[in-house]
Amino acid sequence: MNLSTLAGNEKIKGQLSLQERRRGLSHAYIISGPAGSGRHTLARLLAAAMLCTAQGERPCGQCAPCLKVAKGIHPDLSVVTGLEEGKPITVDQVRALRADAYIRPNEGERKVYLLERADRMNSSAQNAMLKLLEEGPRYAAFLLVADNPGGLLETVRSRCEELVLTLGGCDQGGDAGGERLALAGKLAQALESAGELELLETAMALSGKRDELSALLEAVEVELGNRAVRGGDRRRLLRAAGLVRQLREAAGLNVNAGQLAGWLCAGMFDSL
Ligand SMILES: [Zn+2]
Repeated sequence: MNLSTLAGNEKIKGQLSLQERRRGLSHAYIISGPAGSGRHTLARLLAAAMLCTAQGERPCGQCAPCLKVAKGIHPDLSVVTGLEEGKPITVDQVRALRADAYIRPNEGERKVYLLERADRMNSSAQNAMLKLLEEGPRYAAFLLVADNPGGLLETVRSRCEELVLTLGGCDQGGDAGGERLALAGKLAQALESAGELELLETAMALSGKRDELSALLEAVEVELGNRAVRGGDRRRLLRAAGLVRQLREAAGLNVNAGQLAGWLCAGMFDSL
């Protein structure tokens, strides 16, 4: 498997690659770990790997399905979030998902459902999910992203494989995780209050971080969200968070980091 855009977490990458070669990917994973550890990156990579049509290593990042996953427009990938910001996925949403799962894939061989904050679902929603995990169609796959896997029912957990991420780099020794958080903090600060030139300078630091770009951007997005919650220029912070989200998707497409920095500045200053 090609999981190079996920920083650190070598053990999990090795484990998934081996699993894919030997018996194929599982139909259900719980992906957890601290903010900035790459949960969303890994969930996207797994979804892309399941839908990728390349012959070689997957996800290839180049084929039409991979590009559609990166842009968030693949018809066989459904990302399910709460109906409102911060609200958990409801039992009705899971029922709708269940009905959808029985409609065959549109384009590929599989249908993938990515559930955000799955651990916050109440027990009715989780029980509805459980039925789907037990009896769902063979082509359906489920990626449950969780802050705290302990919030999921044992019965749900026992039907999924658990992937627990660490802040990237921590399992390779060194302090890459701490370094990334520091850089993410600097970037978030610049996005919140710096002028154009200063932002461009700060953002150019991305160019040395190619391997962990995606995890770094995820950490920046989290930091921007935290700043917006704490107060500050909410409009600017949310705009920045939206831009960073777009960049994360583009980062999966192997775009040059210098281009990303330019894009970030243009996005912040063009019509602010
Ligand atoms: Zn592909």
